[in-house]
Amino acid sequence: MLVERMQPFTSTIFAEMSALALRTGAINLGQGFPDTNGPPSLLADAAANITGGVNQYPPGPGVPALRAAVAEHQSRFHGLSVDPDDVLVTTGATEAIAAAVLGLCEPGDEVVTFQPFYDSYAATVALAGAVLKAVPLRPPSFGFDPSELRAAFSARTRVVLLNTPHNPTGAVFTAVQLAEIGELAAEFGAVVVADEVYEHMVFSGAVHTPIATLPGMAERTLTISSAGKTFSVTGWKVGWVHGPSELVAAVRAAKQFLTYVSGAPFQPAIAAALALPDSFYTDLASGLQGKRDLLSDGLRAAGLTVYPSAGTYFVVTDVAPLGVTDGADFCWRLPELIGVAAVPVSVFCTDPELGRTLVRFAFCKRDEVLTEAVSRLAGLRAALGSTP
Ligand SMILES: *Cc1c(COP(=O)(O)O)cnc(C)c1O
Repeated sequence: MLVERMQPFTSTIFAEMSALALRTGAINLGQGFPDTNGPPSLLADAAANITGGVNQYPPGPGVPALRAAVAEHQSRFHGLSVDPDDVLVTTGATEAIAAAVLGLCEPGDEVVTFQPFYDSYAATVALAGAVLKAVPLRPPSFGFDPSELRAAFSARTRVVLLNTPHNPTGAVFTAVQLAEIGELAAEFGAVVVADEVYEHMVFSGAVHTPIATLPGMAERTLTISSAGKTFSVTGWKVGWVHGPSELVAAVRAAKQFLTYVSGAPFQPAIAAALALPDSFYTDLASGLQGKRDLLSDGLRAAGLTVYPSAGTYFVVTDVAPLGVTDGADFCWRLPELIGVAAVPVSVFCTDPELGRTLVRFAFCKRDEVLTEAVSRLAGLRAALGSTP
């Protein structure tokens, strides 16, 4: 029944692995969602909005307070000057990405991205009838080869779908890399759609540079973020996009017939949370950095190769040193073997060879949960040795 272009996308690895984790009682380091609540003031504001009657359709582009707060946030953290009228509130970053691709790409147009990529990218591009051109990011640094990037561009390139800080690799693109991407986008007349949902989650001195801050880039960039990751409310699905008016208008045209609007009681609460003091944001990053170190050390001790994560919720490992040749098969067995769930990086690639033995672990969990996962991982070699 399903249309051909969606047939590769019938299930998501997160649903499958989360179900497996639940069935086996495994610690779920597969899907990237935090197991703690967001800021108490945010939760209280949202609850008060619900009981106070803020429950009907918000304005199409989003509530004015949130659009203004996003503009203020972009100025405060990134020095970007954004008109609140050029901010569109969406149903998570996912809808902003989908509406951008659907609103900008004709069937047959090409979208350049990097692989491994966030799983919605390929499905969204397929929905639009566009063609994905995915440039490899290779370990250990998960940078790209500039000549491979150039070769991915053509006269049909309409969008560059960029994610930094990057899920799943934990790479944070440097200003030099971003300039290379920007120059090619300009040369080929492409729009950059910049997915920056992990903008506040960078570690050990890494710096997140929004590509829109590079010279000449604001005029061709749609910048996307979300409350889900920043405020640990991934289930609320409130995101936003901003950019030049005519690009945002294209996104809005598609968005209004996807969901129209959503999140009425959450939007004003998030507006207030965006104005939280700097300490909230620095504590978020330093807390996650400690979790990254705790899990990375445990994975290394368990015998995996651990690639350094400079940002996001994730660390990528290579399981080849354990004698494992297929990361996907390994992830299916891991919950039964030691009671931990993870996801294979190959599912985020159009070229599965690229991530054949790479496995992603999420560290956005309470320290005691990570400590328990690390102690289970310590038994991994023995468990692998004792099974055929
Ligand atoms: C989580 C995530 C999203 C989705 O954000 P929502 O606001 O939950 O829709 C988008 N892009 C990347 C890279 C993510 O990790």
